[in-house]
Amino acid sequence: MADGYRELRGAVFAANLEVVGAGLVVLTFGNASACDRGAGVAAIKPSGVSYAELRPEDIVVLDLASGETIAGDRRPSSDTPTHLELYRRFSTIGGIVHTHSASATAWAQARRPIPCLGTTHADHFRGEIPVTRALTAAEIAGDYERHTGDAIAETIGDGDPLEVPAALVASHGPFAWGASVEEAVTNAVALEAVAAMATETFSLDPEAASADPVLIDRHFARKHGPGAYYGQPR
Ligand SMILES: [Zn+2]
Repeated sequence: MADGYRELRGAVFAANLEVVGAGLVVLTFGNASACDRGAGVAAIKPSGVSYAELRPEDIVVLDLASGETIAGDRRPSSDTPTHLELYRRFSTIGGIVHTHSASATAWAQARRPIPCLGTTHADHFRGEIPVTRALTAAEIAGDYERHTGDAIAETIGDGDPLEVPAALVASHGPFAWGASVEEAVTNAVALEAVAAMATETFSLDPEAASADPVLIDRHFARKHGPGAYYGQPR
């Protein structure tokens, strides 16, 4: 594949297969993308192509500003405008993963934020996973996928999108992101795990309380930020 986006496409191809391998994809409901801010482009899975036949050269490369296809013969994922909206609004987001993974989608459908009940959650998300507002009928009838991005952006608000790198779109499903597409995949996997754990925790104790904020901050800080000490030095 002799093109200028070989590395970017390769990363997005690998991320899409990882999301499937992690068991997060129901049918073809799932897409991963990455953005290269230096080149001013984003790359995303093509629409409706089965994972079994997906090849790196099928990954569609788009202009970040205009959304026009720059490289690739396939039509991009129908969720592309949601991804582009988030890249445009939040300069620290470098990768996005959307799935309909069962446990996180259940919380999105219940329209309940996932509270931070323990350290598994706090290692990846500094607080509860929020739910977006419902889209209006006009938003659904209009530029639906872009408005989905607007609703997620509203939910993030002025917060740092990398402190809680996920949101549940009301009555739809989870979006997770990260500084890179690899981080976005990790966060999507973590989100599904903490959603399943939260469901089970509330089945054992419907009154289960959120973890102590001090514990949440300690766990988040030891993996992220300037004082991080979890894992091996880079
Ligand atoms: Zn979806």
